This record gives sequence, structure tokens and C-alpha cells, in this order.
Amino acid sequence: FFIALEGGDGAGKSTQVKALAEWIRDKGHEVVVTREPGATPIGKRLRSILLDLSSAGLSHRAEALLYAADRAEHVDSVVRPALARGAVVISDRYIDSSVAYQGAGRDLSPTEIARISRWATDGLVPHLTVLLDVSPEAARERFTEAPDRLESEPPEFHARVRAGFLTLAAADPGRYLVVDASQDPEAVTTVVRHRLDQMLPL
Ligand code: C5P
Repeated sequence: FFIALEGGDGAGKSTQVKALAEWIRDKGHEVVVTREPGATPIGKRLRSILLDLSSAGLSHRAEALLYAADRAEHVDSVVRPALARGAVVISDRYIDSSVAYQGAGRDLSPTEIARISRWATDGLVPHLTVLLDVSPEAARERFTEAPDRLESEPPEFHARVRAGFLTLAAADPGRYLVVDASQDPEAVTTVVRHRLDQMLPL
């Protein structure tokens, strides 16, 4: 079973990933927690290229392809093997992040970005995608570390990213759960658990 958590920076994805992993593990399942970009040795190198402030001049198409390369490696060496042995995989970001950031956020076509991702993953789609939706203003208050290259983008960029995520979710409500991530973290976890309870034979 494959779950992806999506949302803007500061939406609380890593907190939710941890809480859900613990809950599913307590039910006796193997859980693999993973993330994009940077879950594999090659991915870590790509992540540092992508997020380093010194990559400011990176072209948008090159950026999109580097995210796709990270994802291809991630799916091939982490996600598919874990799913094949029956583990529950929880990924902090997946294809939707590319469609939202490199597509809606930049000036590239979201449809083309989705197509590249489909090729990179050989069509692997999550069973459930949880979108933690929060306004960029509210999310910004949660930043604790120095901003990386993306977090220093202007507010309009983050507003387009948020709209990009919401458009994806609206197009496929059966596969998405949109949660108001401005609530306290426990309330968010409860909503997600409720949905998983209906889907998973846990
Ligand atoms: O979620 P995490 O903090 O690891 O993401 C690192 C950065 O990469 C974030 O600033 C996020 O906005 C950016 N990102 C992106 N496109 C993706 C995935 C992440 O711009 N496809």
C-alpha cells in the first residue's frame, strides 16, 4: 500500500508522516518512510544540487528533469521493492510536488510535467495522496530553519503551487484526501487515520 503526503513548505508533512508511520506500525505492518527529493545516495546528490542557494540559475527544464531523475531512482530502488514485499510505503512528496512546483509554480506545463513523472515512475501511482493544505502565509510562520532555494521564492510562487495541488486533488477525489493543515497536528492525524481505516485492511 502506497501513501504520498503532499503540500507546500511548512504544511507539516514530516510531522504527519511520523505520526502515521507509528500508527500503522503499531498495527503490526512493516512501514517504509521515505521522501523526495533525496531518499537514495544519487538522490541526495540531486537534492543538494536542487536546493543549494548556489543553484539559483538552474534552468526550469533542467530542474524538472533532475526531480524526475531523483524520482525514478527512488521508485526503482526504494518504493517498488518495499511494496513488492508487502510493506506500507509513506512518501513525503511524490509526483504532485513536481506538477505543483515545476508545473504550476514555474512556467512549465503541468500536463507535461505529469507525463515526465509517469515515465520516470513507470506509472506507479499512490493508493492515497494526502494533501496538507495551508496558506503560504500560515506555513511561513512554521519555518524554523534558514530558507532553502525554494522557500525563498516570492509569495506568488507559493500561491500558484498551492492552487496547483488543489487542482490535482479536485480532479481525482477518490485518490486524494485534502486536509486543512492549519488545524493542530493531532486533528490532522485523526482525519487521515479515519480515511485510512476505510481503505486499508489494517
Ligand atoms: O519537503 P522538503 O522540505 O524536503 O522539500 C525541499 C524543497 O524542495 C522544498 O523547498 C520544496 O518546495 C522543493 N521541491 C520542489 N519541487 C519538488 C519537490 C520539492 O520545488 N518536486
